[in-house]
Amino acid sequence: MTRQTHDTQLVVIGGGQAGLATGFYLRRSGLVPGKDFVILDAADRPGGAWAQMWPTLRTFSPTQYSSLPGWMMPPWTGDGGYPLAAHVVDYLTRYEQRYELDVRRSTAVTAVSRGDRQRLIVHTDGGDWSAERVISATGTWSRPFIPASAGTFAGRQLHTAGYRQASEFTGQRVLIVGGGNSAAQILAEVSTVAETTWVTLRPPRFLPDDVDGRALFEIATRRQRARELGEPDPGVAGLGDIVMVHSVREARDRDVLHARRPFVRLVEHGVRWRDGTESPYDAIIWCTGFRPALGHLSPLGLRSPDGLIPTHGTQAIKEPRLHLIGYGDWTGPASATLVGAARTARDLVTTL
Ligand code: FAD
Repeated sequence: MTRQTHDTQLVVIGGGQAGLATGFYLRRSGLVPGKDFVILDAADRPGGAWAQMWPTLRTFSPTQYSSLPGWMMPPWTGDGGYPLAAHVVDYLTRYEQRYELDVRRSTAVTAVSRGDRQRLIVHTDGGDWSAERVISATGTWSRPFIPASAGTFAGRQLHTAGYRQASEFTGQRVLIVGGGNSAAQILAEVSTVAETTWVTLRPPRFLPDDVDGRALFEIATRRQRARELGEPDPGVAGLGDIVMVHSVREARDRDVLHARRPFVRLVEHGVRWRDGTESPYDAIIWCTGFRPALGHLSPLGLRSPDGLIPTHGTQAIKEPRLHLIGYGDWTGPASATLVGAARTARDLVTTL
């Protein structure tokens, strides 16, 4: 049986916030969703990575600084000041409906290759798409990163991506690895029920209590401009710096926000430190980040040795019919955040 190939002008791969923001601007430029462009998404429900995150996760920025173009995220009226992940999922779900963005769900893109007539072919598990241009917005959630460690550990190990709730660790000794917001928020709640140790590469950097994600987005933008102009890095804070959301402030009040430098190896029931001493643990939670999900682009042969695809703005240098959005600062300032994705999508669509 021959595989069905659909023709369209543009395929967006990924229906998370980056794909939706792009869809908004494509629509505004006069393209018709479902006819001139489609958004393909492997997941069976809206929300992108936000739909997979642990339910007590708080955004690190208030709603007015977490919005996609056109329609602001509704204010968070619950407790704690910052919205929970479910609020973002609800917003993205309604955003998609509001702008009638045609997201084809449960459609995993397995590969993108070069076709004839100057077109790119997007291969999916349910047929192929032939397009003039492809925009990849597949995020990082499906590629959790755990650094290699010497030795082996017999206890439970999980990554941020697999974390659900603190109660699973009640009464245990838990090692939490990582210096960013995920580690700080998970440490804050796990330390209420377990004995925790926090490991970071360097001393964690906490933002002042009254500074939130807003400042980080502005710093990311200034950094990007400085890079473009060849000027020195202007910022001291980065998107990894810890925002003092309520649970983290409360953990500070309990005096649990102490981090020590990394262990030298895993041992059967714990870890060995630099001074030769060992500590026992029941579980290790690796809050050590993610890598871009770019496997579907492998047939195009565009990756450099660092695993990324060199771009000019969002456009792949060696394949101008391909754009990338989300993933990190390399595709636009703070492009892997809500507000950054919005700005990057605007710039991307103006270059098409
Ligand atoms: P995703 O949301 O991951 O969406 C990608 C989509 O692509 C998914 O729906 C997926 O199903 C689909 N997909 C993937 N591969 C394929 C494929 N091969 N074929 C078809 N579809 C595919 N940002 C903020 O602005 N504020 C915050 O407070 C904040 N907190 C964060 C906390 C944590 C713990 C994490 C991990 C991130 C946080 N971020 C925050 C960053 C951020 O907004 C996200 O990582 C964001 O989800 C990235 O959006 P995206 O659209 O690029 O990717």
